[in-house]
Amino acid sequence: PPIEAEDKNGDHVQVVVRCRPVNPFEEKAGFDRIVTMDRTSKCLKIQNNIDNFGLTRKTKQFTFDRVYDAKSTQCELYEESVRPMVEQMFLGYNVTIFAYGQTGTGKTFTMEGNRRERGIMQNAFKQIFEFVKTKKFSNNTCTATIQCCYVEIYQGKMRDLLNSSRPVRIDTSNLKLPCEGLRSFTCQSEEDMEHCRKLGYTSRMTACTYFNEYSSRSHAIFVVTCDLLNTKTRKVMSQSKLNLVDLAGSESLQRSKATDLRLKECCEINLSLLAVNKVISSSMSGKSYIPYRDSLLTMFLQDSFGSPSTKTLMIANIGPTAFSYKETLTTLEYAHKAK
Ligand code: ADP
Ligand code: MG
Repeated sequence: PPIEAEDKNGDHVQVVVRCRPVNPFEEKAGFDRIVTMDRTSKCLKIQNNIDNFGLTRKTKQFTFDRVYDAKSTQCELYEESVRPMVEQMFLGYNVTIFAYGQTGTGKTFTMEGNRRERGIMQNAFKQIFEFVKTKKFSNNTCTATIQCCYVEIYQGKMRDLLNSSRPVRIDTSNLKLPCEGLRSFTCQSEEDMEHCRKLGYTSRMTACTYFNEYSSRSHAIFVVTCDLLNTKTRKVMSQSKLNLVDLAGSESLQRSKATDLRLKECCEINLSLLAVNKVISSSMSGKSYIPYRDSLLTMFLQDSFGSPSTKTLMIANIGPTAFSYKETLTTLEYAHKAK
């Protein structure tokens, strides 16, 4: 249970939208920009595509906890929306951050960053070890143990990204300790955590070279556990977790004219993404039964989202142009339902 049961942010689920810049393909093909947003009013507008036959364009409007346009930086997103979430972990809450959206909208960029820009992961690693080294611990009354795991869920099966040689068997009929059987690393520094991230990322990308677009059809979950121990009494003061989730591409929610494998993948992804939304909406509407058992993903995360003692940030990633109107609308509707 949290050390301080105070909820600074109001409710336990936050939903933000991030729009990526126009990409060279969209630029060249001349697709209209259809998404506009206003950071002050947190309002987003999307125009529909149908402008042939001289029909007037329709605009749909959504309001979220925050909106990030194409000009927003990794740093702005982090400072405003993510830093307060990571702080909650040190108060004893289990925290989950989801990146949701169609493939190519910036989920992985948002989570993992790239060579030039730090993503949520690198910034979180820094924040965690800044916290560990702060005054709170300088009088030696408390020590923090930081560990991390990195897993991937594909087709309802889990793969340990830090130990790819050994398949993980999770007994889904009796999942009590989600991290059991996974390799975890105890980290002493930001660099140790970044090492784990890179190891897992490489493992994901290797699978990709054998299997086209594999990574966009699997969910990647980086789990940080934080145990605070009182050095004098040797008592555990709090145990909490931070899950950073790069979800599979949501385009699979749409019907796909594809092979059997594609169809199977679509069903599985569809099921998991719907399960995530159902858990969030059930918990928001105060239901006592939360349907975690609908997918392996929600079962794995069951102690970390969908209850008032957890904190969730959903980042809905979208594209800016008419090229992806339908997918963008689906993403916005999905994200809005979580509110
Ligand atoms: P996804 O993981 O959702 O499939 P990616 O993160 O791979 O999408 O992003 C697709 C491409 O768009 C990448 O080349 C990425 O660097 C770029 N991109 C995405 N979001 C942004 C952004 N906010 N600013 C700059 N480039 C971005
Ligand atoms: Mg990706």
